[in-house]
Amino acid sequence: MRDELVVGNWKMNGGLAANAGLLARLASEWTPRERRKLVVCVPAPYLAQAQAGLASSAVMWGVQDVSEHASGAYTGEVAAGMAAEFGCRYAIVGHSERRRFHGETDRAVGAKALAALGSGLIPIACVGETLDERDRGATDEVVVRQVDALLGALGAKARSCVIAYEPVWAIGTGRTASPEQAQAVHALLRSRLASAGAGDVSLLYGGSVKGSNAAALFAMPDIDGALVGGASLDADEFLTIARA
Ligand code: PEP
Repeated sequence: MRDELVVGNWKMNGGLAANAGLLARLASEWTPRERRKLVVCVPAPYLAQAQAGLASSAVMWGVQDVSEHASGAYTGEVAAGMAAEFGCRYAIVGHSERRRFHGETDRAVGAKALAALGSGLIPIACVGETLDERDRGATDEVVVRQVDALLGALGAKARSCVIAYEPVWAIGTGRTASPEQAQAVHALLRSRLASAGAGDVSLLYGGSVKGSNAAALFAMPDIDGALVGGASLDADEFLTIARA
């Protein structure tokens, strides 16, 4: 049975006071459902606050990136082991904003996923095509290249990760892939994962998911949940998605 996951990605948003209110609402209002899990990936400085606010709730927390290195002279980076010390369970790796603004390559994303697993974190590895790539019919080629690089880096450990399909043109734009468009890519990813013995990993969709479109996306056979950016900053919206 695949886990259903709704994961919030706060990106570089928040502040101690606003976080306290949001975490308190999630902690008190989220009731665990059979296979569905709720996770928030917070900026690293707020991990201690997430741990304090969520530890006695059913909501889990994670980070938005980890270093591929365990320690050393890597100024500004956060090691997976450091995040794990704050009770983190998940680490997003390879988000398109990291690939775009920080030059993260498929190789680096694989190494980060491996580092996360090495510290007991479940990597949520992001793949997805740009608008230009979709327009020239290269969607399948791009996501297969990205997922194959991950499978190559993780080997049998790929079974322990989560994959998020996030078409770059749908992130923060208000443009969601239709459930059918998303399902087509998820089915491709599923078959690729299955051929590597990892067909049971949870496949999340991300890109302008809201309370109003979550149920239709979740009804697709290969969509196991969502990675949610903007809407995860609003407790009502995020909980509506989580319950969809
Ligand atoms: C994201 O940041 O991963 C994301 C999907 O953002 P949004 O939901 O705002 O499109």
